[in-house]
Amino acid sequence: MSLKGKVALVTGSTSGIGLGIARALGAEGADLMLNGFGDAAMIEDLRGGMEKECGVRVGYSAADIGKPADIAAMVAETQKSFGALDILVNNAGIQFVANVEEFPEDRWNAIIAVNLSGVFFGMQAAIPGMKAKGWGRIINIASAHGLVASPQKVAYVAAKHGVVGMTKVAAIELANHGVTVNAICPGWVLTPLVQKQIEDKAKAQGTDEETVKHAFLADKQPMLLFSTPEQIGALAVFLCSDGAKTITGAPLSIDGGWVAQ
Ligand code: NAD
Repeated sequence: MSLKGKVALVTGSTSGIGLGIARALGAEGADLMLNGFGDAAMIEDLRGGMEKECGVRVGYSAADIGKPADIAAMVAETQKSFGALDILVNNAGIQFVANVEEFPEDRWNAIIAVNLSGVFFGMQAAIPGMKAKGWGRIINIASAHGLVASPQKVAYVAAKHGVVGMTKVAAIELANHGVTVNAICPGWVLTPLVQKQIEDKAKAQGTDEETVKHAFLADKQPMLLFSTPEQIGALAVFLCSDGAKTITGAPLSIDGGWVAQ
């Protein structure tokens, strides 16, 4: 229980990678503020289940990460109900694929608002409290697409490269305040976000999902394996540990060799 007494807020933790990270931080004893969309009963099940499983306090905020005022209110609510915010994981993210010349304006704006500006406003709201305590961990979930590009993902790649950049800026500013700021850059993780891309591609190509899964992996990763939300969670736990005290400003790949090529 290395994180007992710490308070963690994980954005987009009702599904996929965020849920895996929240579970991992909770298992180490951190109190949790969950966030994300979904059916109210499903979210309450998750919240109550985690409270029981981990023996920690678990709250939920319905903040829309595309809205700066919601983010500020969520951070304030976390600090009020738990007494502090020690660990911020900026994870909420969305995807849309189309060529540059066909990319819809509203999808561009939505992806930039959630995947890029949401990370900025999250850090801005959380940093003063962390600085005051002299301890904090900020973990931004970027992507292999924060380091290299793929076609048809212009907004996502722009946002994730931006996340890696702002992670470095914040890390430098906070270097002597006990606060580390890092970016995790996953390759393929089989979550609802990727499942939808697989289903769309299988439909478009008139093929089955297993074929598309293999093609997705073979196209990008030397290692033909999806990473799991549990593995991303384990990396987040490590970044919160004393062993990671001097790791800051780093984009950390967990991608089966994707960007090694
Ligand atoms: P997911 O769709 O399973 O989960 C996304 C979560 O974000 C959900 O909880 C959803 O409710 C929440 N969310 C979406 N928009 C929101 C908003 N406006 N306000 C609040 N919450 C919102 O996706 P995932 O695959 O778990 O992705 C999580 C993060 O990991 C994203 O930033 C994504 O870009 C990144 N990532 C995913 C992969 C992958 O292969 N799955 C790879 C690299 C990076």
